Amino acid sequence: MKNNTEPTFRQSVDTMYNRASRLLDLSPGLEDKIRICNATYTVRFGVRLKGKIQTFTGYRSVHSEHIEPVKGGIRFAKSVNQDEVEALAALMTYKCALVEIPFGGSKGGLCIDPREYKDEELEIITRRFAYELAKRDLIHPSQNVPAPDMGTGEREMAWIADQYSRMNTTEINSRACVTGKPLNAGGISGRVEATGRGIQYALREFFNHADDMKKAKLKGTLAGKKIIVQGLGNVGYHAALFLSTEDDALITSIIEKDGMLVNAKGLNVQRVFDHLTEHGSLVDCNEGKYIQESKNGLEQECDIIIPAAIEGVINIDNAENIKASLVIEAANGPITAPADEILNKKGIVIIPDMYANAGGVTVSYFEWVKNLSHIRFGRMRRRQEETRNSLLVKELNRILKTSGLKTRLSNEFIKKYSEGAGEIELVRSGLDDTMVSAYQAMSEVWNSRDDVDSLRLAAYLLSIERIASTYHAKGL
Ligand code: NAD
Repeated sequence: MKNNTEPTFRQSVDTMYNRASRLLDLSPGLEDKIRICNATYTVRFGVRLKGKIQTFTGYRSVHSEHIEPVKGGIRFAKSVNQDEVEALAALMTYKCALVEIPFGGSKGGLCIDPREYKDEELEIITRRFAYELAKRDLIHPSQNVPAPDMGTGEREMAWIADQYSRMNTTEINSRACVTGKPLNAGGISGRVEATGRGIQYALREFFNHADDMKKAKLKGTLAGKKIIVQGLGNVGYHAALFLSTEDDALITSIIEKDGMLVNAKGLNVQRVFDHLTEHGSLVDCNEGKYIQESKNGLEQECDIIIPAAIEGVINIDNAENIKASLVIEAANGPITAPADEILNKKGIVIIPDMYANAGGVTVSYFEWVKNLSHIRFGRMRRRQEETRNSLLVKELNRILKTSGLKTRLSNEFIKKYSEGAGEIELVRSGLDDTMVSAYQAMSEVWNSRDDVDSLRLAAYLLSIERIASTYHAKGL
């Protein structure tokens, strides 16, 4: 049960925005202009299913069009409501500005539990929702570009792209109307993993900053750090998988809707995910100890918490009991504004959502650029790079040989060095660069200003300043 004094999601986002805007000298009226959501469209449409018409409610909210297109995912969940969609749209505006992605912010949602419908029923519903939005330009390659969010994925994005193409048969850029599509429908390598991969890059960068680690009372590297992950969906699964298999972190607990798994030695994320995919639940998964009552799951001992499910999970009721040193907000809005203050006071460092989960929109941006350029990244350069690299390798080996040295370049080095970058390598490199640059900018503000006591405040300051300068450039 939510505490009565707990703000709504949108109020929480606004409170955090206000804390930052107070520290800025914005021109009169601009503070409101940036914060207030421009428009929210509500649609109610009927679909004939199993012989009767069922009515669905959906939203598409445009928070800020200071840059177009606006960008933001589409969520399928029973709990979707206007307040939530507007909060998520606002976060998209701030997120894009923070990681320097040239989009405004929007978000969409449909009140539906996808698990209650067969695939063919979901396709009809998704196409109809897309039709309602597209005919009002709320899906459009140059105006409003959705992506996956909770409850949606590649399949839904492919349906939306196809629906848009059917409605705009002569639009050459129609594939750019939505991102997160499967590869064979105009998607990009690395989009599915992007948000989880971004979490990994963000954490790696955090561990490169000794001063920031000190504030969190953390030492060493990611290896051996005990991590709790809440929500083993797209974001949580990829983050947990990469951190455990590539950085040797220990995923000591995974919390899902129906209970949690605990294993102090670290869970095998792939096997837990396979079990969850096959059975739809963690029950009977013998990778760890299953505990049905997971209400206090986030309060377990650990170094890092990755909330990757829904908003408001760290709130007035449990914030005091959180024991982690670091929380990285993989989900949007997992910490309410009052809980944010409590964690700050306790000295728990928070890597904020608008930065932490920006990997998704970053790779979505790459996909959109790819769709507009109609060519796969790396296609023109890969072979040429490989030819030049192997030329250099051959020459180095020739020099070593003629100089009488017995040493030669190792086969492992030659293989690694000679390979030209394909799309996945370029996408990961672009994502890594984005996450590192944005972290460095936040960390600098956090460490250099006495009035900035958190990474979140630093993130908001940077973001609002950038949006304000876009308005100033337009003469406002
Ligand atoms: P998803 O639907 O793939 O996964 C969500 C998972 O959380 C599911 O496994 C679900 O069972 C679980 N879950 C739901 N409620 C829960 C609860 N109360 N306790 C524990 N587990 C619960 O969704 P996703 O795409 O991974 O998105 C998760 C979060 O990340 C959302 O807040 C979303 O807005 C945010 N996000 C997603 C992306 C993306 O690219 N998909 C990008 C940025 C932010």
